[in-house]
Amino acid sequence: MAEMGLTPTDRWHLLGKHACHHAESTDFVEVMEFDEPALTDPEWGTLGVPADHGGPDTKWCRHCKDTIDDLQYRRYNIIADLKGLVPYRNVSWTTVDCDGDCSWCGKSNSATQYNDKLDATVCPTCAWKYNRSRPDVENPPETDRRLETPTDEVDPIRYTTDTGDVECPQDEQSASESIEKAHQRATDEQRPYIEVKIKGKYADVVCDIAGTGHRFRPAAIEEIESLQAEQKTKAEADPDHKSSVMTDISPRRTHVRMTTLFPEDARRFADDLAAIAADPENWQ
Ligand SMILES: [Zn+2]
Ligand SMILES: [Zn+2]
Repeated sequence: MAEMGLTPTDRWHLLGKHACHHAESTDFVEVMEFDEPALTDPEWGTLGVPADHGGPDTKWCRHCKDTIDDLQYRRYNIIADLKGLVPYRNVSWTTVDCDGDCSWCGKSNSATQYNDKLDATVCPTCAWKYNRSRPDVENPPETDRRLETPTDEVDPIRYTTDTGDVECPQDEQSASESIEKAHQRATDEQRPYIEVKIKGKYADVVCDIAGTGHRFRPAAIEEIESLQAEQKTKAEADPDHKSSVMTDISPRRTHVRMTTLFPEDARRFADDLAAIAADPENWQ
């Protein structure tokens, strides 16, 4: 289970995988399980701190609150999307042996609730939130409209342009194909799409798996984030790199973007992304 710790300054911080890098002190006066549903106001959905621990001004550390907001944001998005695809409401959850991180919000060591219709093992908060009336969609589908996840790797459609010219066709049809058509074909064929746009000294990379009808799992997002961080550090350490590198992952976890890399690095990053995007184990 994810845990939280109280410092002598009366701030609660997350511990373990989501550990806070801003805690003023590492001697925690108290450590307890991060029981998010118990701390959540049933009416307003706001997150409080445990009563009767610490002084009257005890609260969450600001940085940890941001981390929790991220978990909640992911949870909200995936539940809203899922409810647009499946008819199941008020499902019953079975408690299982913890099987790692929550596959919806990504909370560490918290996946203890399983439902076979949704085919998901999630944390107690995600399970609880799914059965709430909100978020929901106006006209819930009458059948399960999710696309099946393939068992084999799915070759991404790759597209490279050099200041507007299609550079090297990396895929059977892209030689004469426009960028829009290639992107559209990814959706038609339910394949990941990866694009490298070389613009003189720098290049941008885009990876989009929305066409597959899936999104990246939290674990895949972590892998992508660490690749992005690596590229960013590398670029910033190079005195010849005079622009700032931008990274972006869409809230729905279907798009990844990175701008202003050296073309060589952009190609390598695109190869790494292609390997991750091709593997349906990384989708949900
Ligand atoms: Zn903190
Ligand atoms: Zn969760």
